[in-house]
Amino acid sequence: SVIPDYLAEALGDVASDTSGELAGYIPELAAADPEHLGAAFATVQGEVYGAGDIDTEFTIQSISKPFAYALALSDRGFAPVLASVGVEPSGEAFNQISLEDGTGRPLNPMINAGAITTHALVGPEGLKPAERVERVTDGLSAFAGRRLRADEAVCASEMEHAHRNLAIAHMLRGHDILTEDPRTVVDGYTRQCSVLVTARDLAMMAATLANRGVNPLTGQRVITEPVARQVLSVMFTCGMYDAAGDWATQVGIPAKSGVAGGLIGALPGQIGIATFSPRLDPHGNSVRGVSLFERFSSDMGLHLMGVP
Ligand code: GLN
Repeated sequence: SVIPDYLAEALGDVASDTSGELAGYIPELAAADPEHLGAAFATVQGEVYGAGDIDTEFTIQSISKPFAYALALSDRGFAPVLASVGVEPSGEAFNQISLEDGTGRPLNPMINAGAITTHALVGPEGLKPAERVERVTDGLSAFAGRRLRADEAVCASEMEHAHRNLAIAHMLRGHDILTEDPRTVVDGYTRQCSVLVTARDLAMMAATLANRGVNPLTGQRVITEPVARQVLSVMFTCGMYDAAGDWATQVGIPAKSGVAGGLIGALPGQIGIATFSPRLDPHGNSVRGVSLFERFSSDMGLHLMGVP
């Protein structure tokens, strides 16, 4: 097929760009190989095409956020989740300590404040923290169509330096947005971020969103269509943090990035796309990943608002 050749050529063109930095605030991530580079496409029919490092495992990090949001919406329903986490773009960094005036509600589920709150909303009310982590891992696995597991070393490394997320969680607890021990919630959220995936997995997870909730590989309905629509909408407006506007205009695909270097895009009704390259721009988005998506979008006319 011509698609792997196209992908290999695209990787070759961005390979020389060594700008950007590894995520320094998580020591285990700072020790990663910065040269990894891969890209994968998964169609809603279940075909996967890829080039480069598409079977190398790395931690999912913030790319877990839209999927955990999907699980919370499924498990609790829209109203309780929306009462705790908004859907407004923040225009701020992913780890900004910002909550809505008055209510203390995080602006959206893609920034850490919203994602920490969302983690606590996965599963039925009253679920034990360890069971909730189990529910999150099972859910992420259903999106991927393969059993996933966490990287304990990355998890422990992040927990030792999680002061900022703990501060956010304590503020959320102060506003009664969180009702549990903040440390327990951050521990579970960090575990969620430490789940290991490959670019192939991420493309399939994105394809499940693109396929309106049905995993194209396993045929399992993981979430309902309204939940898929909600998640894709929030990815479109908030998935790239303070670069979300640039992304929406330049690339025009619902997307989510992670600080281990993963990046996904989901094109409704068509494909899931994933790239992996660990060096990050100042927003915390993969430098070569952003370049690849810009190229895919313009070469194939993927911008949701049409070709120029
Ligand atoms: N675990 C990371 C954190 O909470 C995830 C951040 C990210 O991938 N942008 O800081």
